[in-house]
Amino acid sequence: MEKAKNYDLIVVGAGPAGMTAGMYGVRSGLETLVFEKGICGGLSNEAPEIENYPGFKKVRGMELAEKMKEQASEYVEIRELEKVEKMKWSVKNLEVSTEKGSYLTRAAVISTGTRHRRLGVKGEDEFLGRGISYCATCDGFFFRDKPVLVVGGGDSAVREALYLKNIGCEVTLVHRRGKLRAEPYLQKNLEHAGVRILWNSVVREIRGDKKVRSVVRFDKDREIEDELLVEGVFISIGEEPVNDLAAQMGIGMDRNGYIITDKNQRTSLERVYAAGDITGGVRQIVVACAEGAIAATSAYNDLLELV
Ligand code: NAP
Repeated sequence: MEKAKNYDLIVVGAGPAGMTAGMYGVRSGLETLVFEKGICGGLSNEAPEIENYPGFKKVRGMELAEKMKEQASEYVEIRELEKVEKMKWSVKNLEVSTEKGSYLTRAAVISTGTRHRRLGVKGEDEFLGRGISYCATCDGFFFRDKPVLVVGGGDSAVREALYLKNIGCEVTLVHRRGKLRAEPYLQKNLEHAGVRILWNSVVREIRGDKKVRSVVRFDKDREIEDELLVEGVFISIGEEPVNDLAAQMGIGMDRNGYIITDKNQRTSLERVYAAGDITGGVRQIVVACAEGAIAATSAYNDLLELV
C-alpha cells in the first residue's frame, strides 16, 4: 500500500471534464493528481464521430480523448486503472482511498461521468458480449453484413445506427415512441442513410443459443408481439450517473442522481466540486471541459482563501 501523500487537488475520473480539471489545477499551481478507474476518455471514447467540438470538423471520440490525454499528461499525473473506493473528510483534509493506496488532499473534483442505462429485459445479461453491446465503435466490426437492431431514440442511438450502417450492417432502429429525441440534423442523416425504423415498439426479450438470434418486440400500435431475426443488439437508451462516491459522502443530488452544483461547480460539500456528465444538464464534451476548468479554478480560489 502506498503511504498517504498530501495533494492540493485530487480529481476522480479522467473523462474530458477530469482531464481538463487536472490540467487547470496544475496550471494554477496546485499539486494535483487524477485517478481513472479505466482508461482516459470515459464514454467519449465510444462516440463514433464528434462534429460539434470546436476546432475539429469531425473527429472520432477515441482520437479526441487520446489528444486530450496527451495534452493533460504534459501537466498532470493521471493514474489509469486505479479506482477510488472511498473519500471522507479527516480533520482538514479529504482522505481518498483507492484499491492501491490512500491519499490526502485539500480539495477534490468528482468527474465520474455516467454509465450506460440497461434495458432490463430477459436475455440482456445472458447475451452481453455474445451479440449484445452498448458500443458500436467497439463491437460493430463483428456484425458487418449482418442484421442488427439499435434500441433507442436519442443522439447516441442515432449515431450508433449511422455508424453501423456505414460499416455495412443491416440496421434497424427500434424506438418506444413515434418521434425521435435526437437532434434534427442527425435525424435527417438517418433518413438519408435509409435506416429502417420500427416506431412505437418495445423490446421485450432477447433470445439466442450461444449468441443472439432474435428479439421479441411488442408493437404498441397493433398490440402484437413479433420476433425479429437479428445477430446483434446495440442498446443505446441513455445513461445513468456514476454517483456512488457522491452518495457515500452525502453530497446533494437531484432526483435523477446527478450532483447539484452552483455555477462555480461547488457541491454541497466544502471544497468538493463536480464537473462533466455527473452534473447532468447539457451532456456534451465541450460543456464537460468547461466545467472541469471552472471546478479547478474554484478549487484554486477557495484554497487561496484558506491560507
Ligand atoms: P437520451 O438523450 O437520454 O436518449 C435516450 C433514448 O432512449 C430516448 O429516446 C429514450 O426514449 C430511450 N429510452 C430510455 N429508456 C428506455 C427504455 N427503458 N426502453 C426503451 N427506450 C428507452 O440519451 P443519449 O442519446 O445517450 O444522449 C445522452 C446525452 O448525450 C444527451 O444530452 C445527448 O444530447 C448527448 N449526446 C450528444 C451527441 C451529439 O452528437 N451531440 C451524441 C451522443 C450523446 P424517449 O425518447 O421515449 O424518452
